[in-house]
Amino acid sequence: MALIVKKFGGSSVANAERVNNVANIITDEYRKGNDVIVVVSAQGDTTDELIEKANEINPNGVSKREMDVLLTAGEQISIALLAMAVEKLGFPVISLLGWQAGFETDANHTVARIKKINTERLKAELAKKNIIIVAGFQGINKYDDITTLGRGGSDTSAVAIAAAMNADRCQIYTDVDGVYSADPRKVTSAVKMDEITYDEMLELATLGAQVLNNRSVEMAKKYNVELEVLSSLEKKKGTIVKEKVKMEKTLIRGVAKDENVSCISIIGLKDAPGVAFKIFNILAQKKVNIDMILQSVGRDGTKDISFTVSFSQSPDAVRALDGLKDRFEVKAISVNDETAKVSIVGAGMQSHPGIASKMFEALYDANVNIQMIATSEIKLSVLIEQKSADKAVQAIHDAFIN
Ligand code: ASP
Ligand code: MG
Repeated sequence: MALIVKKFGGSSVANAERVNNVANIITDEYRKGNDVIVVVSAQGDTTDELIEKANEINPNGVSKREMDVLLTAGEQISIALLAMAVEKLGFPVISLLGWQAGFETDANHTVARIKKINTERLKAELAKKNIIIVAGFQGINKYDDITTLGRGGSDTSAVAIAAAMNADRCQIYTDVDGVYSADPRKVTSAVKMDEITYDEMLELATLGAQVLNNRSVEMAKKYNVELEVLSSLEKKKGTIVKEKVKMEKTLIRGVAKDENVSCISIIGLKDAPGVAFKIFNILAQKKVNIDMILQSVGRDGTKDISFTVSFSQSPDAVRALDGLKDRFEVKAISVNDETAKVSIVGAGMQSHPGIASKMFEALYDANVNIQMIATSEIKLSVLIEQKSADKAVQAIHDAFIN
């Protein structure tokens, strides 16, 4: 007998038919003699719709506490409906809200972090042979107020339960059947991976692969919880996410694209020590997250610095820099939103020469110009013009994976 944690995303419980389908999946598992804890998200686009309702009431910004009270209602609906569907099939079941399942979080409303899970209730319900359905994405803080874990947080709820209960398996069901080497809707030759490491998955998650929330992958890595990403609609094996995978032929596991990038250039800075420090210090104070950075060679006593930020932070960055114009005798600050970051990810690239040249050759053959380059141990990214991004992904994918 094993303890299995299963998480179902919003699309997997979007309507009555889907809820019934999930009830079948979990009761099949229970019938095998296993203990089953299920974590669910809000149905379909419920969370987005609730946010819209809040904005309708007060477009100037509702309080985060009340937003949490509102948003947790989405998951409350799904756990009740799913428990009813399981009841209908004649199995013992109980639904629990986050606080009932023991989720203690810090007090940061809308982006709370899990502090611990008190597992007594979960253990007691398993001892009674109940299938447990837990509301994902929510907990309670030390003031007994309801909190949420940030968008996409129910993946993290599932991993946290698996870690706290020492589960034998943690399965994340979604509407795709696993993790692919590129977005299968765009790159028809994309291949599904049998296995991927936590580090690779983290890079792909942050780069917009959108199968797993990255905080959940961080937590899975920390507590060594093996994850399986699989489809709730098709019965087949998914992708396993774990610490080490068997060596495969392919050094590069995936190609990812991120169009949510702005490139900001500061032209004509004084070529002197401390200039870069002062600029990035101001940006840090304004909590602007910098990704890639490029500094030109100094000429005639001046230099240029360019860097990328997420599209949503670009106005903050420009505002912070505007105040510096006079202090640094800057000639111009320009913003280019028509950029995209394309990256290759693979743990094998650390020990293999020639990866960069192969990627650049593929871009050259596709006639795509590189604006910036950044590397980490298991990732190589280039900044290019946005309209060439799909073409670039395809060319790089062809070069490395097919
Ligand atoms: N319902 C929440 C959201 O849409 C949490 C989740 O889906 O994981 O962000
Ligand atoms: Mg959702």
